[in-house]
Order: sequence, then structure tokens, then C-alpha cells
Amino acid sequence: MRHLVPARQSLPEKDPIFALNAEATRRRQAGERIVNATLGALTNDDGSLAILPSVARTLREVPAAESAAYAPIAGQPQFLAAVIGDLFRGHDALAEGAVAASTPGGTGALRIALMNYLEHGQSALAARYFWGPYRTLCDEHERTLSTFEMFDARGGLNVDALESSGRALIERQGRLLLLLNDPCNNPTGYSMSLDEWRAVAGALERLGERAPVTLLVDMAYWMYGAAADHRAFLSALEPLLGKVGLLFAWSASKTFTHYGLRVGALVACAGDEEARAATSAALAYSCRGTWSNCNRGGLFAVTRHLIEAALAAESDRERDGFKALLQRRVAAFNAAAASHHLRIPRYEGGFFVTVFHDQAEEKAAAMREEGVFVVPQKGALRVALCSTAEADIPKLVDALADE
Ligand code: PLP
Repeated sequence: MRHLVPARQSLPEKDPIFALNAEATRRRQAGERIVNATLGALTNDDGSLAILPSVARTLREVPAAESAAYAPIAGQPQFLAAVIGDLFRGHDALAEGAVAASTPGGTGALRIALMNYLEHGQSALAARYFWGPYRTLCDEHERTLSTFEMFDARGGLNVDALESSGRALIERQGRLLLLLNDPCNNPTGYSMSLDEWRAVAGALERLGERAPVTLLVDMAYWMYGAAADHRAFLSALEPLLGKVGLLFAWSASKTFTHYGLRVGALVACAGDEEARAATSAALAYSCRGTWSNCNRGGLFAVTRHLIEAALAAESDRERDGFKALLQRRVAAFNAAAASHHLRIPRYEGGFFVTVFHDQAEEKAAAMREEGVFVVPQKGALRVALCSTAEADIPKLVDALADE
């Protein structure tokens, strides 16, 4: 007898990316020379996980009474204030009306956004190239995902497509939730320019005159962007306050290289006191109804790295070292990709880059024969430079090239 409900009886057994990684690992252990550009964690050139040592130390120092106790449902107030302070540093107008709830990583933040800013059965909007779990999250929460054509003919963000897809969704369902993963978009590696942010803000403001419109900025990789000021994009969003809902999926996974710690937050800018109270209550309700509360010891340690100047400086310095490691790979990849005429978006930094390819599945399968693992997606191959040693980049790019 099958006890699973029908819709759950034939789901794929393994996440496709983890399945590719398992095959790559097995073949490497069997002695093959493998380039494994599938997994989304930053590794050193020797393949070990790149871990900020100061954060690992702070975690070891968490008092037992902190890590053993339950956290408040929405997270410790110190953590929430620290995240809001970190995110909106220099942008007081945004900080003023902000509320937050702690979540297990950015994934949890996406989950509570989907539940609170869309009705059952409605669609969120994302760019055509998106992090695969967006669709799983929508499906699991009985929402769907619509996409807009991400790039225009010049290779920039296609803001017209965003606006017209947004308008169509508003006409269909009377509200819009837009998921924008920037900078260092997963999977393309693309980072929007400030002008593109302003153009998106203009489009959202127009859409917001018709219906409730909410923008969620998925900032999983924001500390790895090439911009000198990671918060510059916020100035483009400030004029939207009170007109468009602003959400930020903040995560410690990449920022503090502790993916398994499951520390993150959803930050929401709410207009007035009444909206703030209602938003806080809604977010806390969602937390209670899923994971109850987050990893208290993790929240405690991350808070220290956000608010204690010496610890913040130490982890920033260590992260700069990792960014330099990644930047060397980005430069090597861009140079090799240009000489092999690979079709890639503008790529200035970040964990991933995408190579556009019309037969992505077939191409990825052929590459696996040569011992090179990338993730095929619709019309593209996702390449995780975050986990590719610099010395492997020539082999990787040779395999990606069609000639
Ligand atoms: N958003 C994007 C685009 C990601 O790539 C990831 C992780 O790979 C996440 C969100 C969520 O990660 P976490 O839940 O670990 O914060």
C-alpha cells in the first residue's frame, strides 16, 4: 500500500546537483582526474572548505546555556537589530521602518516571504536563470514560479521584460512578488549596475500604482560582489519606501562561510507602526508554523561578528582573502572564456557563472565523459568557480568549448 499522497509518490530521489557531486566524488576516489564545478560552497584550491577561522572560533566559544536554550520564535532581538544595522548601514530611512525574523538561512527567508506575500496558488516572478530551489520552494508551498527574459540584446538586465511580466502577473492575480538575486546572481554570475537598479525601481514604482508589489532581494552572495560599496543599490530602493514592499533575504551561509549553521533572516521595510506590528506578527507566525525557532548558538555567534568591531574586522579581513582567491579564478576564467569564444554574461565576481548553450544536457553529459562536471540548466551550463581550483580552469574551459 502506498501511504504517500499521489503528488508525492514519484518525486526525484536526489537533488540533481547533489547527485552530480556524488558521481564526481566517486570517480575521483576511484583515481580519475575530475574537475567538479557543481557545488555551491567556496573551497580552497586543495578542495577543502574555505572557512573563516574567526567565525569557527567564535562558535566554539558560545556558552552552553546560549546554544542549548530555545531562541525566541523570531530570533533574539540583538540578532535582528544587528542584521538590520548591518544591511542598512548608511541608509537610515530604510533602517527606520524595518522589522525582521530569523530564519534557517536565506532559504527560510524565501519560504516565509512566499507564504506572506502571495496567496495560495499564485506565482512569484524571477529572472529566467534562477537558483533551482526557487521552484521547489514555490511548489512545496503551493505557489508557482513565473520568469521573465533576463537579458536584453546588449546583455544587460531586461527591465522591459521584467515590467511586462510583472504587469501580466498583476492582471492575473492582483499582486506581485519579485525575487531578485543580486549581486553575483546564481547561476549567471551577473551583477546589476546601479543604473539597472534604478530602472528596476522605476518599473516597480509604476507597477506598485496598480496593486501590492513586493520586491525580495536575495542577497545570498552580496559580500562577494565586485562593487566597492555593497550597499550602493539601496539608494535606488529608498524612493520605493511606502510604495513598494521591500524584503531582504539575508544569510550568514556565504557571508560567514557557515552553510550548515542555518542562520539567516528576512528583513522587511514596513511603512508605519501598524504595518510594522502586523508584519512582525505575520513573520513570527510563519516561523512558529515551520521550524519554530532557529539555532540560538548560531544566532549568538553571528551577532557577535556583526556588532563587535574587532570580530567584525577580523572576519572581514579573512573574507577579503577568500574573495581574492575567488577573484583570481574569475580573472582566469574570463580570460580563457574569451579566447575560446564562450557565450557568458558580464561576470565580475561571485560563486557561479553561466555558459549559454543550446544543448546544455547533451553538452554536460559529454563533459562528464571527460571528467568535468557542471550543472546543465535550460539553455545554460552552470559553472561553480567557487569550488574549482585555479589550476583546473584551463581543463574546465577546454571542456566547455565546442570546437
Ligand atoms: N539564494 C541563492 C541564490 C542561493 O544560491 C542560496 C544557496 O545556495 C540561497 C539563497 C540560500 O542559502 P542558505 O539557505 O544557505 O542561506
